[in-house]
Amino acid sequence: MGIGKYEPRTIEQKWQDEWRERRRFAAESTSDKPKYYVLEMFPYPSGKIHMGHVRNYSIGDVVARYKRMRGFHVLHPMGWDAFGLPAENAAIKHGIHPAKWTFANIDEMRAQLQRMGYSYDWERELATCTPEYYKWEQLFFIRMMEKGLAYRRKSPQNWCPDCHTVLANEQVEDGKCWRCDAVVEQKELEQWFLRITDYAEELLADLDKLAGGWPERVLTMQRNWIGRSHGSEITFQIEGLAESITVFTTRPDTLFGATFMSLAAEHPLVKRLAEGTPEQDKIKDFVHKVVSLDRIQRAADDLEKEGVFTGRYCLNPVTGARMPIYVANFVLMGYGTGAVMAVPAHDQRDFEFARKYDLPMKVVISPAPSEQVEPIKVEDLTEAYTAPGVLVDSGEFTGLPNEEAKAKITDHLAERSIAKKTVNYRLRDWNVSRQRYWGAPIPAIYCATCGVVPVPESDLPVILPLEVKTHEDGRSPLPDFQEFVHTWCPKCGGPARRETDTFDTFMESSWYYARYTSTHSTDAAFDDAALKYWLPVDQYIGGIEHAILHLLYSRFFIKVLRDMGYPVPDEPFASLLTQGMVIKDGAKMSKSKGNVVDPNEMINKYGADTTRLFILFAAPPEKELEWSDQGVEGASRFLGRLWRLVEELLPDLSASGACANLDPAALSPRAKDLRRKEHETVQRVTRDLEPPFQFNTVIAAVMELVNELYHAKDELRATDQGKAALSSAVATVLTVLSPVAPHICEELWRTIGNAGLVCAEPWPTWDETALARDEITVVVQVNGKLRGKLVVPADSSEDAVRQAALGDENVVRHLEGKTVRKVVVVPGKLVNIVVG
Ligand SMILES: [Zn+2]
Ligand SMILES: [Zn+2]
Repeated sequence: MGIGKYEPRTIEQKWQDEWRERRRFAAESTSDKPKYYVLEMFPYPSGKIHMGHVRNYSIGDVVARYKRMRGFHVLHPMGWDAFGLPAENAAIKHGIHPAKWTFANIDEMRAQLQRMGYSYDWERELATCTPEYYKWEQLFFIRMMEKGLAYRRKSPQNWCPDCHTVLANEQVEDGKCWRCDAVVEQKELEQWFLRITDYAEELLADLDKLAGGWPERVLTMQRNWIGRSHGSEITFQIEGLAESITVFTTRPDTLFGATFMSLAAEHPLVKRLAEGTPEQDKIKDFVHKVVSLDRIQRAADDLEKEGVFTGRYCLNPVTGARMPIYVANFVLMGYGTGAVMAVPAHDQRDFEFARKYDLPMKVVISPAPSEQVEPIKVEDLTEAYTAPGVLVDSGEFTGLPNEEAKAKITDHLAERSIAKKTVNYRLRDWNVSRQRYWGAPIPAIYCATCGVVPVPESDLPVILPLEVKTHEDGRSPLPDFQEFVHTWCPKCGGPARRETDTFDTFMESSWYYARYTSTHSTDAAFDDAALKYWLPVDQYIGGIEHAILHLLYSRFFIKVLRDMGYPVPDEPFASLLTQGMVIKDGAKMSKSKGNVVDPNEMINKYGADTTRLFILFAAPPEKELEWSDQGVEGASRFLGRLWRLVEELLPDLSASGACANLDPAALSPRAKDLRRKEHETVQRVTRDLEPPFQFNTVIAAVMELVNELYHAKDELRATDQGKAALSSAVATVLTVLSPVAPHICEELWRTIGNAGLVCAEPWPTWDETALARDEITVVVQVNGKLRGKLVVPADSSEDAVRQAALGDENVVRHLEGKTVRKVVVVPGKLVNIVVG
């Protein structure tokens, strides 16, 4: 009797249909059961899934299926991060509307994901480009405007004059536009910002709550991005003017060595300082040159330091020295106050600048005298001295260790109100304005009388008009589309203009995980009970490339939602797994390298189960995965081997329930071995399906059990107890392998006589008594005389027995003062130790 050839295509479609018809993976809003929310970062609908997606989603699916079998009520949704530039560019290139392009891609990708057999609750699918979704984002934004968390201000932006749009830093390559190669300009533009800096302290502090659940390196990246530094704000009087300059410094201990002042080109005082001085024109030219540099170049260490003297001086508050004020290209307005007290002897950038412009230097920190080092002299310096030391030439603070001097100098100045202790963050407010078409409209209205007015809640959503034609040159069509732009002021009723900027697409991905709890809610953003039940996401899975911004914005957003009164936790993702890249021939898969493996081709040739099995077996999830055709073949062969095993044993197998007939006491040694292997396998896979998730060893364990079944089957088929042991082991293989290769396991599960679904089975447990190994007694002799008896596992290695013998208490006594010449082990019987 045969069950036919293993044909993945036939059985995979069949089981996918059955799961769907039974609504097997649909999650309820709430439940009395413990919940588990597993989420993979949702894709941009580019049109095709790639192996990176397959890896990401296969990992998530194993976790989802395993947790369901463990009795959890599981939420495992999928959707589309559907706004963004590629749709617009493709639309321009192919003359097709971005919406049409996007939805066609979504259909294609959904079909591909369904072919992989992922256990998504498709009833909760969402696409962020639909008004049903972005309506709520617009509502959150209006509330943020009311709370002062959303605001407008001018800020310098990368601007492509040919594409007529602002570019993100990563869209500028060597100072040129990534799309058209035009030289990027810096332009001051009014933009919308979210005040994420208000949450800087909490975003930093709450990282501690994530320790253990998040990779340490991601926590570090988040900390560095927020970039808290403790320091002092010190005020410098400008000679001859009423104004003063405030600097932020982490090195107040070097104040006595501050010999000049450097300002950012954008510093608001620059114009005022230059006014009426002979240097006025020179300064203007320099400022223009600097602000058109992109900000990444300006922050680079290897930037050639340049500056221009303003003709003005400020006064060092402790030494009274006149400090020339410069505008310098390496000072950024973004960090601190945009003004730097320059201490060339103890800061490398200031050092380079001072050497170039022949500015004075003064050493104020020297290695501690006890170290027997010569004091540092300015003329000997080849670079700034930045190591710790003690203060020299620093008035009453001379001789203090520099760390101690930081607080003392600040306190001293604080008494005269010219300094205060302060905390500074590297984190900047989030610019959410984009001058592109394919995004969610920002719900604001401009009225000549009333100024900026939020769109009233009752008028939401502000729908992105689809009946526009995109411009060839990438310019947004919205500003020209009068039906959209022209509106009436909600306050005074007069004619008004709509905001034509759209949101940064990071907005949509900052809260989608919360929307999945109530995808179809129409009268509110969320169903509160569902939100409360499902959040936080228990396990989030995605690429390391999103380790900073997406996660930071999501963390910020949930805190904002919380403060608006939504019942959400402080953090969105309790645990995070960042999966490694899929590479081939040593490089990331890419069209230009010609090393792309198309998941569709893999499914056509081998089936989804083989593809899933290979990708989970080839490497631990966080490591890089090298694609290997032999590896795929191997995975395919293993599933074929499993199929043939069940086919061959079918007449002797009973369905899973019949394992109750198994009487452990009546088993033959071989059957006992198989049973032990089975229970060891359950123990191993259960451990490795929990964090830190070692799916490769899970699969290796199942492979070993299948090997053991092959070894034992002929002997065990002869007896009823043997058949019971075989049945039990086969049932276990199918159960624990089903999260990895769900279709074949369902098919074989049904074949051996089960009516239900294997994916609905409870997860097996292991029996400690089944794990126990048989033990034997080994006799130990010293020079032929009986000196001890050992009880060891029957399958102990010779070496293990030798070590046990030499460690036996009584034996040790008889070895005292003697040299062991030889140890003879007779396996299973005795150990003879020869001493002299
Ligand atoms: Zn361009
Ligand atoms: Zn008005």
